[in-house]
Order: sequence, then C-alpha cells, then structure tokens
Amino acid sequence: VTALDAAWADRWLRECARVLADRREELIDLDRAIGDGDHGENMDRGFRAVVAKLDEGPSESVAAALKLAAMTLMSKVGGAAGPLYGTAFLRASVAAGDRDKLDGPAVEAVLTAARDGIVARGKAEPGDKTMVDAWTPAVKAAAAPADGEAALEAAASAAEAGAQATKPLTARKGRASYLGARSAGHLDPGAVSTSYILRAAVTAAVS
Ligand code: ADP
Ligand code: MG
Ligand code: MG
Repeated sequence: VTALDAAWADRWLRECARVLADRREELIDLDRAIGDGDHGENMDRGFRAVVAKLDEGPSESVAAALKLAAMTLMSKVGGAAGPLYGTAFLRASVAAGDRDKLDGPAVEAVLTAARDGIVARGKAEPGDKTMVDAWTPAVKAAAAPADGEAALEAAASAAEAGAQATKPLTARKGRASYLGARSAGHLDPGAVSTSYILRAAVTAAVS
C-alpha cells in the first residue's frame, strides 16, 4: 500500500502525461466527431508542460503538485478544457490543504472540490454530455471507502462508466452542443480524458 502523499501526486501527474500522450489520437478522433478535433492535442501539450515543471524538482506537498498542474494547464491549454481542468486542479489543491497524505475522506474532498470547480466555471449539469458526467459519479463513488487508494479506485471505475454513458446523450454545453441531436452516438472527449486522469491516480498509487 502506497501513501497518497506528495510523491504520489507527482507520479499521478507524470502518469497523466504518459496516458494522455498515448491516447492523443483517440481523443483527437473523439473531438473531431463532435467538436473541433483538438482535445487530444490540448491535453498532451498541457501535461507535457506539467512534466517539464515537475522535472525542476519534486513537489513539497500534494497541494503544491496540484497547484503546479493547475497553473500550467491554465497557461498552456486553450479552449474549454484548459480553464476547466485548471480550475479543477486549483480547487483540488485548496481542498488538499496542508495534509501530508490523503485518506478516503480526503480523496472525496479533493475530487468534490475539483468537480465543483468545473461546474462553477462551465455551468454544465449532469446529463449535458460533458466531463461533468465523468466527475459526478466519480465523486459519489469516492464517498464510501475509508482508504484513499480504494476511494481512487472507486472514483476511476465510476468515471469510466460515466464517460461511456455519455454516448447516447445530446450535448447541451460546449462546442458539441452546436451539433444538437447529431452529437448523440459519440463519447464526450472530456469525459473520456477525465476517466484517464482518474485511472492514472490509481496507477500512481499501486506503482
Ligand atoms: P474546445 O471545445 O474549446 O476545443 P477541448 O476540445 O479541449 O476544448 O475540450 C472539449 C471538452 O470540454 C468537451 O468534451 C467537454 O467535456 C468539456 N466541456 C466543454 N464545455 C464544457 C462546460 N461548459 N462544462 C463542462 N465541460 C465542458
Ligand atoms: Mg476541441
Ligand atoms: Mg478547440
């Protein structure tokens, strides 16, 4: 069992970069179907920049790592996803506070803060076919486990199911909403990238 401490947070962000580089083309294809085709590139560029910052030295706390991610994503990722993920990581950093490691309730608090930040910024509701449809079930699932790693695992699995469940939905927020009913039948790219980011948190905990 690994502690969800500063070193874990750094591993999480590096794992995000690895997975999002790997999934770059897939996320581009998803966004090409219902958006402008840049989501894979946006996420890859943003997390590459996060890794470049991490290479300057290890983070001193979970909060510091999450704040570094927030600031970098806000400055390097344009479009909708940059400010949304930037706000998510910034709120998550504040929620992590001065804890040196996260247990289950702290994981829930951090993920809830991230989701609330995305909702405050983007005003999407569950069912609007956005990343909120991955974050919201993740937050709910993280509430039960006392153990931090178990809370992350529950959150990641719920996010994956939430992302898959965006397929039949009609988009009501973001670029995909311009397509109206034609957005149905495709996964939401941001919900899928959210599921990768949360799965990366689990991978970083078990590695
Ligand atoms: P853009 O649409 O500006 O090109 P991206 O392609 O990087 O930005 O990100 C698109 C993703 O952003 C969507 O798949 C969706 O998950 C998310 N998104 C867009 N608008 C909102 C919103 N108002 N609230 C929550 N998420 C949103
Ligand atoms: Mg796009
Ligand atoms: Mg764009």
